[in-house]
Amino acid sequence: MTSIQPSPAVSLPEFADVAAARARLEGVAHRTPVLSSRLVNERVGGTLFFKCENLQRAGAFKFRGAYNAIASLDPATRRRGVLAFSSGNHAQAIALAARILETPATILMPLDAPAVKLTATRDYGAEVVTFDRYSEDREALSARLASERGLTLIPPFDHPDVIAGQGTAAAELFEEVGALDLLLVCVGGGGLLAGSALSAAELSPGCRVIGVEPEAGDDGRQSFQKGEIVTIPVPRSIADGALTTHLGKLTFALIQRLVSDIVAVPDSALVETMRVFAERMKLVVEPTGCLAASAALSGAVDCRGKRVGIIVSGGNVDVASYARLLAG
Ligand SMILES: *Cc1c(COP(=O)(O)O)cnc(C)c1O
Repeated sequence: MTSIQPSPAVSLPEFADVAAARARLEGVAHRTPVLSSRLVNERVGGTLFFKCENLQRAGAFKFRGAYNAIASLDPATRRRGVLAFSSGNHAQAIALAARILETPATILMPLDAPAVKLTATRDYGAEVVTFDRYSEDREALSARLASERGLTLIPPFDHPDVIAGQGTAAAELFEEVGALDLLLVCVGGGGLLAGSALSAAELSPGCRVIGVEPEAGDDGRQSFQKGEIVTIPVPRSIADGALTTHLGKLTFALIQRLVSDIVAVPDSALVETMRVFAERMKLVVEPTGCLAASAALSGAVDCRGKRVGIIVSGGNVDVASYARLLAG
């Protein structure tokens, strides 16, 4: 097997790590439901299985990776605490996982992050440290906090235990519905896609795994096609969970090895999918959580005659913008 090691110190996670993560998450993460819709199946001409991580604890799959990463730290390191920088679902996932594991959590968030997100993260018991994203260097600040307080940084995607944790959602899906022809997964930094691909390779070897990105931020597709990590300016899209500028080193190595393709869909398709989820399936799904389903519904990926798994990644959207998007 070719070995694409990103750095000598960190090795790529394997399916065994996903299996270990499942054991850690047992009884802690929700085993989220797998739903289907006759109407959607008729529309795309295939059989779709929706793995509903919008119903996961803290509202997104991110809880899986966050909990797995913190639970994997040795006890002394864990007691000193963890640090994360995020204004979105990773922050809430780390805050909740840390509370469950009785670990102090410090979350670095931009001063101008939405108030609801600052509050939600504090409500989970984390200490929120704000910074001015226009004048302060986030990396330097987090490095200083980490060394002053002895905290361990848990990154949102490029970490073996985070990737392994994210892979548990797809593992549950395959266990429940059996082998699939296609698995569609959204892509930000690629943690969910890389982990899902590890599970597919082991549990449904013939399954093609396809990543889905917002059209305005298709760095993953560009990287996949070029064979090297491409960095783009911060994209503008309603898929706020996928506004990363580049894939991670670990995630890219796994994606190159295990993923069949990466496609992109426009924001208009995400809104249309949000509406289908709301009207037909009674599911509240955030725009980013609609990426994978949009690839099937818009025809960007041909699902005719196929058994298709769709990871619905999250449901955290404030009701005012949800209503605005659906009305627009
Ligand atoms: C973080 C996130 C993503 C992107 O996940 P990556 O592992 O960074 O690719 C997609 N959807 C939701 C809801 C998220 O919170």
